[in-house]
Amino acid sequence: MATITVIIIHQPYLQSYASLPLPTIFLHRMKVTEHIANAQGKTLFSFEVLPPLKGKTIETLYNHLDPLMEFKPSWINVTYHRAETMFKKRADGSFDKVEVRKRPGTVGICAAIRNHYNVDTVPHLICGGFSKQETENALIDLNFLGIDNVLVLRGDAEKNEPNFVPHKDGHSYASELLQQVVNLNHGIYLEDDIQSGGKTKFCIGVAGYPEKHFEAPNLEIDMKYLKAKVEGGADYIMTQMFFDNKKFFHFVKTCRANGIEVPIIPGLKPLTTKKQLSVLPRIFHVDLPTELSLEVMKCKSDEEVEQVGTEWLLQQSRELKEFGVPVLHYYTLGKPRVIQNVVKELV
Ligand code: FAD
Repeated sequence: MATITVIIIHQPYLQSYASLPLPTIFLHRMKVTEHIANAQGKTLFSFEVLPPLKGKTIETLYNHLDPLMEFKPSWINVTYHRAETMFKKRADGSFDKVEVRKRPGTVGICAAIRNHYNVDTVPHLICGGFSKQETENALIDLNFLGIDNVLVLRGDAEKNEPNFVPHKDGHSYASELLQQVVNLNHGIYLEDDIQSGGKTKFCIGVAGYPEKHFEAPNLEIDMKYLKAKVEGGADYIMTQMFFDNKKFFHFVKTCRANGIEVPIIPGLKPLTTKKQLSVLPRIFHVDLPTELSLEVMKCKSDEEVEQVGTEWLLQQSRELKEFGVPVLHYYTLGKPRVIQNVVKELV
């Protein structure tokens, strides 16, 4: 007689809605590209979170994610953060220069989220502030944990520096970090004496900028480097936030015209405060459309701005879905309720 084995684990995120853990069939871990291929044209959802500030518990992150998990995101991205140089005052009035990594733990958080919610996770990895050895160790940890996705980025300049300065034993561009991950996928480690090293199988994402990266002289040159990342082995592109879909459509068209065929995932963020009218262009180098800006300027409170921002994000999302994007990726940054209000209209 044939024996059927059913693997049952409990799905802890359902515990917030029920007093007893509910059994569920264990889901197969998938790469971002596998999720997209399996969706067969259906638009997926994914969310991005930041690691909690050092000293905060993982529960703060779960409280943030709980309201979003009902939408069954295909995966959760977790950002990566370098140490910052700070000056701490001594008793004698002089200052100590200290390096503080305020948001550590991306690798561990990805494993924790995966165990807690039974969902795939995509850790970000950055060049800035990390040596190649530290990066290799992080990749080995991820591999041991069974996490086969990474989004590779350069990172920005350190807070106190005007320009990006690479770590002395690190990478200068995301393309170099990408090469390191590709090498590991081929079993090539930094130490020459590791022969026939175990091969990782990372699915690799890279960043793209519908309004160009702020340091690039123009979109064409930026596109040239983006194409190099794809030719170097990137499996998909995830974009910087944008508020004008026309910019995204133009970006996709330009990518395709340049022979970039990998999936392009739009990154979306809600506008929720009046201050963001100047903060977002300054920090993220994105334009805010006139129509949206004028609506926000009319608002008397941030609650009103949040309403305008929610409606705008919903319209943007509907149009992108119609356009046929594979995934709607939301930067949740402290605003899970807004994302919840948008996504519930789309499912
Ligand atoms: P790169 O691809 O290296 O490009 C940087 C600049 O150099 C561009 O202007 C490009 O045109 C140019 N360039 C590229 N290659 C070359 C070359 N060979 N020669 C000369 N010029 C070149 N930051 C974090 O710190 N942590 C995060 O978790 C994080 N997540 C992000 C997620 C997304 C989806 C996005 C869009 C950005 C994220 N960032 C994050 C910010 C990102 O690190 C910055 O935007 C950074 O300034 C550029 O990263 P990149 O990977 O696009 O860099």
